[in-house]
Formats: sequence, C-alpha cells, structure tokens
Amino acid sequence: MVYDVAILGYGPTGAMLGNLLAAQGVSVLVVDREVEMYPLPRAVHFDDEVMRVFQTVGIADDLLKKVYVNPGMKFVDEEQNLLLDWPRPQEITSHGWNASYRLHQPDLETLLRQSLEKEASAAVLTGFDVTAIHEHDAYISLSGTTEEGSSKTCKARYLVGCDGANSLTRRVIGGEMDDLGFEERWLVVDAILKRPRPDLGDHTMQFCTPDRPMTYCRNPGARRRWEMTIKDDETDAEIREPEHVWGLLSRWITPDDAELERRAVYTFRSQVATRWRKGRLFIAGDAAHLTPPFMGQGMCMGIRDAANLAWKLIACLNGANESLLDTYSTERSPHARAYVDTATRLGRLINALDRDSALKMAEGQSPGTSQMRSITPKLGPSAITDTGTSECVGRPFGQVDLGDGQRGFDQRIGYKHAVISPIQPAQMPAGAQWLDPGDYPSLARALNDLGTRAAWIRPDRYIGAVSETGSGLFDHFHPYFDGNDYKQ
Ligand SMILES: Cc1cc2nc3c(=O)[nH]c(=O)nc-3n(C[C@H](O)[C@H](O)[C@H](O)COP(=O)(O)OP(=O)(O)OC[C@H]3O[C@@H](n4cnc5c(N)ncnc54)[C@H](O)[C@@H]3O)c2cc1C
Repeated sequence: MVYDVAILGYGPTGAMLGNLLAAQGVSVLVVDREVEMYPLPRAVHFDDEVMRVFQTVGIADDLLKKVYVNPGMKFVDEEQNLLLDWPRPQEITSHGWNASYRLHQPDLETLLRQSLEKEASAAVLTGFDVTAIHEHDAYISLSGTTEEGSSKTCKARYLVGCDGANSLTRRVIGGEMDDLGFEERWLVVDAILKRPRPDLGDHTMQFCTPDRPMTYCRNPGARRRWEMTIKDDETDAEIREPEHVWGLLSRWITPDDAELERRAVYTFRSQVATRWRKGRLFIAGDAAHLTPPFMGQGMCMGIRDAANLAWKLIACLNGANESLLDTYSTERSPHARAYVDTATRLGRLINALDRDSALKMAEGQSPGTSQMRSITPKLGPSAITDTGTSECVGRPFGQVDLGDGQRGFDQRIGYKHAVISPIQPAQMPAGAQWLDPGDYPSLARALNDLGTRAAWIRPDRYIGAVSETGSGLFDHFHPYFDGNDYKQ
C-alpha cells in the first residue's frame, strides 16, 4: 500500500499533523521507534493560537480540564528586583481562549494519540526504527527494523519528518541548522507537592542570577517545575543525583514538601533549519527548529507547522500544483525564527549576560515600562499570501462569535477555507464556506477593525488575502490549481 502521507515521529508535531490529515480522510501512516510516549519533563506551556488547533482536532475541551491558566512570567535579579514583567491577560482573547496555559505534555500527547487512533484513515506503527529514506518518482519509502527485529519498508506519496532534534529526514533533505547562538546545559526537575505551598506562587519566575540562572513554573495540579543551568565543572550524572537536586531546590522545598517525579539534563539550543523541503520530503517541529524553552514555544511552533502544512498537502493530494508546498517553508521559517530569536534574547537576560537587548525589546513594546507583550510575528513571504498587501495579511484571524458561542467560527468552518465577503466569489477553493458579513454583525466589525470588507481565511486561520470588494481574493492562490478540480 502507498499511503498518502507518512509521518516519521509520533511526538506532538507528528500526532497533530496526523490528526489534521486523517480527519480530512487522508490516508496517514505515523511511525515511531519508541513504543511509549517520551517520559522525561518537557513542555509546560502553550498559547491561545495553538489551543485553536487543538480545538480544530476536537481535543480542546478535554485538554481544558487538565491545564492551568497562566498569570505570566517575571524576571528578577539576585536581589529579587523585577527586571522584566510578562503578564498574560486573564480574559478570553480574540482567539477565543485564554492567552497562556500550563500543561503536562504527556496529557496533551495522550489526547492527541487517542484522537488519531480513532480515525479510520490513520495507521500507527510504533517500535519501528527507521534507518533509511529513499526517494522515488511517485513516492518515498521508509525502511527500518520493527520491534520484533524484522526488516520493513513502508511507502507514501509524501513524508513529513517530525523526527525531532536529530532528524534523519533533515539529513536526507540536506541543508544546515542555522545557529542563532544559544547553547547551554540545563537540569530540569519536576516535583509533586505533598502539601499545599501557595507561597511558591503562580507566576513563572526567571531568576536572572549570574552564578546559576534558574526557572520556576507552577504547573497544573500539584506538579511544580524547576530548571537550572549546569556549571562547566558539573557532570550530567552528578547534577541529576537526588542529593544534589535537593540541595539546589532547598531554597524552595525539602523532601517533606514534595517528591521528585522526573529529572533530565538537556542542552538547550537555538537553531532553525535552512531547508524544510526537498521534493516529497518535509520536516516539521523540532526537526526544523530548536529553541531554548524560555518562551514556552518549542512545541507550539511544531503545532503551527502542522496546521500550515496539512491543508497544503491535502490540496496537492487533490491535484494542486506541488509548488504550493514551497510556501510551507517560506511562511513558517521566518515565523519560527522570530520566536527562537526572542527566546535567545530572553536567555541572555536570564544569564545576566545581556540585560539591555531584552529590556529594549520590552521598552519598544510598552514605552516607559519593563513590561513585555507576547510577540505576534507575521508569516514569512509567500506566493499565495501576499503579506505585503496589508498589515493583517499573514496574521491569524480572530475566532469571531457567529451568534452561536464564543468559539463558533472555528467550529463552523472546521479545517477548511472561509471567505468573508459581501459577494460570493465566482471561484473558491472546494469545501470553502462563504459568509456574508451582512448576516453577521460580529464579522462585519472584525473586518472593519482590520480596515477591509472581505477576507480569505485559510484552514490554519491565517488571513490569506483581503479585498475591498470581495473580488481578487484568490488571484495568487488559483494558479496553483491549473484548472484541476480542487476538492477539499
Ligand atoms: C525542558 C523543556 C521544556 C520545554 N518547554 C516547552 C514549553 O513550555 N512549551 C513548548 O511549546 N515547548 C516546550 N518544549 C519543547 C517541546 O517539548 C518540543 O518542542 C516538542 O516536544 C517537540 O515535538 P516534536 O514532535 O517535534 O518532536 P519529538 O517530541 O522529539 O518527537 C520526535 C519523535 O520522533 C521519533 N524518531 C526520531 N527519529 C526516528 C527514527 N529514525 N525512526 C523512528 N522514530 C524516530 C522519536 O522517537 C520521537 O518520538 C520544551 C522542551 C524541553 C526540553
């Protein structure tokens, strides 16, 4: 069998991509060498935009029961003076969700896996260690060894390598990792409180101390996270020792307060791949970019990759010109780089190496304060979404209440295109929904706020084009279909 799409890697990026594709009937094979989910401490944060993607695949309500709304992050110096404040609004944002959530990554991955494994067109093969990828004219093949030790080869029209930091797919695609200049070893510890400790606080704290920068995170339930740099003369093994860990945590907790759940040593890096596609091969998630975790955006970037790529793959499986797929990396790479770059600057602040750069960034956002706001980068330049035409093009469209609830827009549209226009365009992508702002005052207001009267909203919720009259919205997009019947 030749699957439509093979996904190498069943982490959050691969699981999300699989969900988006399989829900539209695409035949998907997801493979991973591991049988179990990754057990060590990783993501603790995601944002409102990413929650919309979780909503799209139907897991947001269940996830909501397991998360904690994050009040924000504070950066303090050795004397506990506030250097930088990054408050998160507690109200529901234009995305229809809270701005920032704390999570336990395995809770999310469990929901993504349960959802994917219910899809009739999805197959999951774990325990399959892929050792070779071969490109053929009409398909690609993945070869490797199964859990039972036998050789196996799988075929698909496209392969997306969501295979993490040491991506095999990235090596086959070629290109380099562009280094944005951060590389540090950190110890990461999750502890479970045995008794309430409200004094630890609900904000994420960044302790910008030159001797040993540290992070504290208030995670859902009784779980608390500490992260701390490792000095050059400390080995990974000795820093992980429980006595050593308790020594480092003694400023906050003792074994009477909590038990150590998980601990791991990571080297945090800031890197973006120079090539994200070669023919039928793509990379997404950590395979394409690595960031220090100070903005809590590494996994979020992978979820955005999946949302950007899936609808383009679906379009090409339905006859669109494959050059459409080049827009994936041109749009996603600069967007991801903006996060990696900002996280790298914050890393320098936390290391007390370069206070000015991060503080200047905050000053630029909110003059006269040391308050930082979440960044909202635009998609990079793209042949279909001409980001130069308007400030709003290449940015997400808000989740507008259509009169049937705060999260009505995404619920109504699904993972499809939407056209908001006083006139129905003669040609629309198949499956697109047309909404007349005359029928929806909230949509008319949203367009008015954007300074336009008509807009094309892509399945990833980004604004693809705007127009005063409703005509011309698809001028850049239609040529990709060359008269093919575009059925999505
Ligand atoms: C300490 C820490 C804190 C973090 N905090 C946050 C945060 O708060 N918010 C956030 O958004 N992100 C955070 N991140 C980042 C986030 O955890 C990662 O970006 C995310 O898990 C990457 O997901 P992925 O699916 O791209 O890759 P992975 O989860 O690494 O999955 C890759 C998968 O590919 C499989 N694989 C690789 N090669 C092969 C092969 N050849 N054959 C078969 N299988 C293969 C692997 O087994 C693995 O399961 C944090 C990371 C760390 C380390």
